[in-house]
Amino acid sequence: MKQGKLLYAGKAKSVYRTDTKGTLIVEFRDDITAFDGGKKDTLKNKGSYNAGVSAFFFEYLEKHGVKTHYLQMLDKNRMAVRTLSMIPLEVIVRNVAAGSIVRNYPFREGIKLSPPVIVIDFKDDSRHDPMLNDDLIIALKLATPAELRKIKKISLEINRLLSSLLARQGILLVDFKIEFGRQGKTIRLGDEISMDSMRLWDKKTKESLDKDVYRFNKGDVMATYNRVARRIMTGGAARPAATKKNTVAAQRKVPGSPGRAAKPKAKKR
Ligand code: 5GP
Repeated sequence: MKQGKLLYAGKAKSVYRTDTKGTLIVEFRDDITAFDGGKKDTLKNKGSYNAGVSAFFFEYLEKHGVKTHYLQMLDKNRMAVRTLSMIPLEVIVRNVAAGSIVRNYPFREGIKLSPPVIVIDFKDDSRHDPMLNDDLIIALKLATPAELRKIKKISLEINRLLSSLLARQGILLVDFKIEFGRQGKTIRLGDEISMDSMRLWDKKTKESLDKDVYRFNKGDVMATYNRVARRIMTGGAARPAATKKNTVAAQRKVPGSPGRAAKPKAKKR
């Protein structure tokens, strides 16, 4: 597959056309930003950690029946994905109160939210991603009522799957943000699931293992990303489903680790 013209460049990823119909390439760059782009840096290897972890999660979710845009890794920073018509919603699932929900509402940080709380923001940088409700989503024609029900159902299923996968690694999935797109009538998970888009805490110590380390200068963000990527991808792979594919995913090379790189494998979907 040949990489074509740049279609879109976001804050940390670039999307390219390809010569294959219905397929795009997402490049995870080494850029990291926070606070609406107010804080910016370029950190060596950061893109490959996020690409590797995203691919690992996408493969895991697909194996458990969640439809995603993921096709295959091309190299350590680039992923082939299905073309989706993206829905401009940021779906945030929260299991524990942290971040903006603590700033904006009278929740004490660290309290369990059970059942999980879904918050949906309008993906619009110029408006600073304002929070939506169901009526606004329908009135703005961002999704139909049936699509919205489906999006919420898939989001909770993703939360269930990822929470239990991470729990086995001693990691608490505090919250995460996901985005969806349409492929015809099918709703698929798009974008990424990585340390940039999740809040992960060590279960015992409550230490941050995600972008909060960068946001709030809590330490060496790259050392954290390296450690958490290894912890997620090498420890967690074989246990959820000890299949051949999962073993391959488990062996994908974590940058800086002695693991083997997984061969890009064409997938029939
Ligand atoms: P909060 O609303 O507390 O700032 O974020 C909740 C969760 O969603 C966190 O895990 C955060 O990383 C993620 N999140 C919220 N907005 C964005 C965004 O614009 N980009 C990314 N990558 N993640 C986001």
